[in-house]
Amino acid sequence: MDRVSSSRALFNKFLSAFTIEPSDGIVQQLGRQGVKPTDLKAVILSHLHNDHAGGLEDLVAAAPDLPVYISREHWKAFGEHPFFAGMEGATPNHWPRNFSPKIFDYQDQPVGPWEKSYPLTSDGKIVAVDTSGHVAGHLALVVYGESGTGEATTYLLPGDATYSIDVLDKEEPDGINDDPARALQSLRLMRQYARQTDVVVLPSHDANTPRFLAERVVYQPK
Ligand SMILES: [Zn+2]
Repeated sequence: MDRVSSSRALFNKFLSAFTIEPSDGIVQQLGRQGVKPTDLKAVILSHLHNDHAGGLEDLVAAAPDLPVYISREHWKAFGEHPFFAGMEGATPNHWPRNFSPKIFDYQDQPVGPWEKSYPLTSDGKIVAVDTSGHVAGHLALVVYGESGTGEATTYLLPGDATYSIDVLDKEEPDGINDDPARALQSLRLMRQYARQTDVVVLPSHDANTPRFLAERVVYQPK
């Protein structure tokens, strides 16, 4: 096993192995924020790794009509191949029963440097863009929001397309990518977007993300 595939195997084992206390479940966490599963309009999955899709079973059990969005490329790679997905860090045995997410295709609607995108809301304020590489069909979200004072703020939620701002600055695919060349391209597109637009980038695994969100820290590509 080469270095990359052994680190992937370790990563995938880690993803499948950790346990979540019931009080840390997604339904309980939402409850602490005063949100019921039936309050949610939709779930948008960047990808099906367990640390991003875990809890979906409980959420959909509590809100059976909740739409769950996923890109067609990722569904083909993981959803249609649960055994492969299980090897790659997903937990298909904890997907909702008869899991049938809303699978979307990107449209010819450019967003920044991305030639295609998919608007997830009718007002076009939440838009998916392809950031494959970490896994096939991985998506990032562009969210056109506003601050408490009504000032427009654009957010980029990269999921696992970058683990941190440091990694993004170094244009460093993380070594456990499904496709390092596409991962690098995704990093470059995100940086290009940040050069074109003031954007608050919120990587899923960056310890500073809560602060970036609270203070709306605009990412300045180095
Ligand atoms: Zn992941």
